[in-house]
Amino acid sequence: MTKNFFSTIALRTAGFSSIAMAIVSVGLLVYLKDFTRAELILSFSIIFFSGFVTVYSVSAWLHNKRINEINRVLKNISKKKFEEYENLEEKEGDELDYLSLQAKKASKMVEKELLRLNKIENYRKEFIGDISHELKTPIFAIQGFIETLLNGAIHDKEVNEVFLKKAMRNVNRLIYLTKDLMEISKLETGEMKSNFQEVYLHDVVLDVVESLQYKAQKEDVEILVNEFDKNLQVKADRNQIKQVLINLIENGIKYNQEGGRVEVGLLPTKKDSERVRVYIKDTGIGMEVKDISRVTERFFRVDKSRSRDKGGTGLGLAIVKHIIEAHGEALHIESEPDVGSTFSFTLTKVSHVSL
Ligand code: ADP
Repeated sequence: MTKNFFSTIALRTAGFSSIAMAIVSVGLLVYLKDFTRAELILSFSIIFFSGFVTVYSVSAWLHNKRINEINRVLKNISKKKFEEYENLEEKEGDELDYLSLQAKKASKMVEKELLRLNKIENYRKEFIGDISHELKTPIFAIQGFIETLLNGAIHDKEVNEVFLKKAMRNVNRLIYLTKDLMEISKLETGEMKSNFQEVYLHDVVLDVVESLQYKAQKEDVEILVNEFDKNLQVKADRNQIKQVLINLIENGIKYNQEGGRVEVGLLPTKKDSERVRVYIKDTGIGMEVKDISRVTERFFRVDKSRSRDKGGTGLGLAIVKHIIEAHGEALHIESEPDVGSTFSFTLTKVSHVSL
């Protein structure tokens, strides 16, 4: 700081108080004893000077101490150094107290904002890294098949169709990946808003099960619906809940074994409870406890090759988690290797109907 505004105030305070002190002192001296003019001037000067120096020093020291504190907080902000400041509530005080409080609040806010931006930046870097990695595999595979075909395999009746089908499978993978990426980015940026309606849950479950029957049959897996009240209505976004059911039932099919089963139904809850719990239970490969907490992370797969072979994008459960959270509901996962998994989530009932 080049010029201290408060030193001017201190100077003025010192001046005024010294004059006042000197006048009062001289008045007292005159009243008490007779003095010569020279003695009077001398005592006035001595009292004025010492009063001035004392009041000025104390006043400047007190103000400087507080200004230095504000200066330190602001310098720390510019160096991205943030201390832990306590008691940041507004209290009675002068302008300096107010400035000091504002500087500390600014420090706290800048620190919070920087942390938030760092988190977003890391998330962005990680997301871009994940996407490029996910895109690389199918793109290189397609490139390989096309190159081989162009190099002559196109005329080989034994392999040309096989290579084209493999290339097509990878194109499909890219399509699923793009679709899921668009969906998750809309969910994560908050662009996709839930449109809550009164939804007949039974209808939605049957719709989804019907649309997945063909896939299940191809994998030799049976889908069973454990019947529940057809009139049960829940407060939900119909399309989003459909998406949740599709992702969970599809996983139940994908990670199952031949002749396996996927069961969909409602878990019993208290009759007067405001919520119902939908479950999707499979007799599949299951997973270890350590993986359960990670499967809802983007691109986390227990068995990468199995997921890719089955057309998985690694985003299905991340999408499920986002949708369930946007509904203010909870997702629960139980699983045991070689026995199977049960995914369940809550939904809020519109009316109280017995299950
Ligand atoms: P993916 O597209 O790979 O299926 P998901 O996000 O849907 O992606 O699932 C993430 C991972 O969780 C899967 O790769 C798989 O390893 C595991 N997983 C998901 N559902 C099941 C299930 N029903 N049984 C066993 N493992 C599962």
